Amino acid sequence: MLVGTPIGNMGDLSPRAIDALAGADLICCEDTRRTGRLLELGGVTRRAKLLRVDDHTEVRAIAEVVRRVAAGERVVVVTDAGMPGIADPGERLVRAVAGEGLAVEVVPGPSAALTALVVSGIPAGRFAFEGFLPRKGSGRTERLRVVAGERRTVVLYEAPHRLARTLADLAGVCGGDRRVAVARELTKLHEQVWRGTLASALAWVSESEPRGEVVVVLSGAAEPEVAGDGQIVASLQEALAEGLSTRDAAARVAADLHVPRRRAYGAAVALAARASGATVGDDGGAGEGGAGDGDGQTDGGQGDGGDGDGDGQTDGVGGDQPW
Ligand code: SAM
Repeated sequence: MLVGTPIGNMGDLSPRAIDALAGADLICCEDTRRTGRLLELGGVTRRAKLLRVDDHTEVRAIAEVVRRVAAGERVVVVTDAGMPGIADPGERLVRAVAGEGLAVEVVPGPSAALTALVVSGIPAGRFAFEGFLPRKGSGRTERLRVVAGERRTVVLYEAPHRLARTLADLAGVCGGDRRVAVARELTKLHEQVWRGTLASALAWVSESEPRGEVVVVLSGAAEPEVAGDGQIVASLQEALAEGLSTRDAAARVAADLHVPRRRAYGAAVALAARASGATVGDDGGAGEGGAGDGDGQTDGGQGDGGDGDGDGQTDGVGGDQPW
């Protein structure tokens, strides 16, 4: 059973999580001291054996966990904070147990990624979770490039002492105007959500390095602008005036303006027909060889328009008990 635990505020430890921990025969956890404290704070007095499972020992633990689950024992998996399997151990255990045809249950709890996303003010309808970026080398460069081109909102985890460098790298690939939110110490006493552009975020962190845990929520890349009819016609006229054939002019304009060839060709044929005095019928047959029907494309890009917040705004919360 995967059990979510608080990311800072003990009030988020659910009654179901406490029941699961209290009823466990074995609790897999990253840090036995930390989980021991969690059990204490949750009022769990019946102590199951704690088995340390971190990124290095997860594979080794698989055999024991599968054997115990198969024998009917209740094995609970928790991590230091949040949901197991999200930038934390758990995923391989789930795969192994499920792979044996055994049941895996989940008791959901908070996760820093979703918590930051929903409070960021950045569009949350479609998002990509990237976890921690690789720290250096081509792996980092390549991932930054992918993140920069991602149209969906991107959620990243980062250590506070690496935040400035990551924001600088993001500004380098995305441009300083891209909107970002930095959610710090979520659900804790010093919870803070900073919102603004990457350029202003850099100025903010250079004043004083934020402390505590942070999540970076980055607005997605804007959709490329969709060319309007006027722009297509103007470009076609230019190309035709240079002596290009209808077909070649359409191909060039389609490539230059990132519009479907069919659309550019339809417009080119209509232009040529107009120039020669012929008319293009609704059914598309006319002029030199049939204009096609126009492809029903409409203008107007999307673009998420940013989140509408002023730069550098911060929400403070505070109040709830940290643990
Ligand atoms: N499994 C966890 C989850 O579901 O959120 C994530 C574990 S990952 C090892 C730890 C990272 O999560 C931190 O470096 C930070 O980026 C983020 N994080 C965890 N708790 C946080 C909090 N209270 N506020 C902001 N970020 C947090």
